[in-house]
This record gives sequence, C-alpha cells and structure tokens, in this order.
Amino acid sequence: MKFKQVIITVIYSVIIATVMTMSNNIINPFKKKTPPVSRHPYIKTINPYTDARMQKKKMPEQEKDVSQPQEDVFEKLLELHQPLSEPGPFDWLAQHHEPGQPYSQYIESDPAVPDKQKRVIYIALLGEFSPEQKEIIEKTARFIDLYYQMPVKFTSPISLEAVPSRARRVHPQTRDRQILSTYVIENLLQPVVPDDAFCLIAFTAADLWPGQGWNFVFGQASMEERVGVWSIYRNGDPAASRDEYKLCLLRTLKTGTHEIGHMFSLYHCIYFNCNMNGSNHRKESDRRPLWLCPVCLKKLHWALDFDLVQRYEDLRDFARDNGLSESAKFFQRSLSILEKLPD
Ligand SMILES: [Zn+2]
Ligand SMILES: [Zn+2]
Repeated sequence: MKFKQVIITVIYSVIIATVMTMSNNIINPFKKKTPPVSRHPYIKTINPYTDARMQKKKMPEQEKDVSQPQEDVFEKLLELHQPLSEPGPFDWLAQHHEPGQPYSQYIESDPAVPDKQKRVIYIALLGEFSPEQKEIIEKTARFIDLYYQMPVKFTSPISLEAVPSRARRVHPQTRDRQILSTYVIENLLQPVVPDDAFCLIAFTAADLWPGQGWNFVFGQASMEERVGVWSIYRNGDPAASRDEYKLCLLRTLKTGTHEIGHMFSLYHCIYFNCNMNGSNHRKESDRRPLWLCPVCLKKLHWALDFDLVQRYEDLRDFARDNGLSESAKFFQRSLSILEKLPD
C-alpha cells in the first residue's frame, strides 16, 4: 500500500505547525473529492444544512424525500443539537478547509456500506494491555456494536513482538517508546483481514507515530482498505481512579465510533456538535459529544437501515450502566422525541 493511501485521522495541536504542509498535501482524506473553499468553509460554503443552521435549524425542502417514511424524524431531533461554534485558532476547522458533506452528497457518493459478504466489524487487540485497558476495549467493542447495530467480533490477538527495530523508536525528546503505525497497518493488519470483514480496527496501548516529521498520532487508517489502528496510550490511566477510568472509556468510545464512521464514507461534520467533528487536539476531542447530529445520523441510517428507537435505547442503557450520565440523558431525550412521533 502506498503512503498516500494512508490517512492520518487524529492529530495533536503541538505538531500541527510542523506538519501542516504534509497534512494538506498527503493526508487530507477529503481533498480529492471536495473543491477548494475559503478559510471558514463551514460558514461560507453553500449547502442545505449550513443554511438550515442559519435559518434556526430548519431542514430545507430540497432535502426531503417522500420515499423515506422516517424523514421528519431527523428534523424533529434537530431541537436537541447545537450548531458548531466558530473554531479557535488551533481547532480543526481553522486548520483544515473542509466544506462538509450534505446528506444528498453522501448518498450520491457511492458510500461504503456492508453487504452479505462484508458485514462484520472486526476489532484486533494489538500488544499488551492492563486489565482495566482490556476491559475498556471490550466495552468499546460492545458500544460499537450498539452504535452501528452491526455484528462486532474480535480477531485473534496480535503480538507486537514481530515489529522490527526499524518500525520502533524512542521519541528523541519525550522518550516515549513508539511503534510505526504504517508498519502496523501494512504488515500486521492487512494480511489478517477476515473474509467477512466490513472493516478491521486494532486497538493498542502502545504509542504510535506515522513517520518522519511527526511526534505521534492517536490513530491512522487506510480508508481504501478499511483498516485502521487506534492507540489508547494517551487516553489516560484507567487504573488511577474511577474518574480517570470513565474519561479513558469515553475517549476510547469516541475514537472508536468516530473512526468507524469514516469507514462508512462519512466525512467530518461541520454542522453541529457531533461525534463526526474533526479534532486537532485533546481539548477539542474532549469537547466533541459521543452522539451523532441528525445529518450524520441520517447518513448512517441510509447506510445501515437500523431501528432508530432500538439504537437509542441500547445506547442509553450502555451509557447509564457505565456512568456516562450526560450521554445517557441525551440518548433518553432523543428517545422521548421519537416516541412522541406518530407511527
Ligand atoms: Zn476523523
Ligand atoms: Zn454530524
């Protein structure tokens, strides 16, 4: 696989300045499909949902499709969602010129969707984990199952012992021991993708770096191959306290579901506070909610045709059981709206 096919999905602000040229030229997953836009594309770009946001969050007529009986469901859910605010100077949308992906554009783009052959989300455990980290990955697998209403399975664990010294380093300044993420994708994951895999994502407790010029990455994926690796190294120490555990869990849930969203050809969301917002740094990703906005939810519903009520019930129960009260409350409020709708 060529390096150009590999997409860095989450990067940290401290490295942005040194890698902007690289990220603009090589790594932006959306560049070839989207026209160049102005510095604040989410304001200047004309598209129905941006306009909807400006017009008190009303869905536009041209987005309605009578062939979809649940169409107004998404419109009803809008009242729970906050438009994305102006980015700070180091935030994703200040650094990456993304025009967004309206629903109509998504369904016309021939997005990747599961079929009879490729219908399972696979998760690989890569390297060693503490008991708490392992528990968090197992919970994340369960959550991904509920989020996408798709079967999730684990592959056999993959050892990092086979990683050669040329794909390892100790960071010259921070002294973090790191694994080369491109090596993991090409040499450890791609050869073991199961036949019925829609995608394969690996979680590792090792720190990752993607090559020369980078300090580290949270994760990296090949969208063409639908294979990725995500590190929980920088998600906090879940053994330190109950709060740290919850924080590590929430971060891992967000990363796992966000990155799998890209596997279904979802671009970053520029419309509302949404799990599919891009993040340039930890504070920004911590601000991002665990839920999807109605625009992204509608895309996913088109791709997967799940039962919206069942999904929200499942997500609410998971969030409640794991002390994620803000998310539990949000999922319950979404459910209350859906349950008021006529059949
Ligand atoms: Zn992303
Ligand atoms: Zn969204």
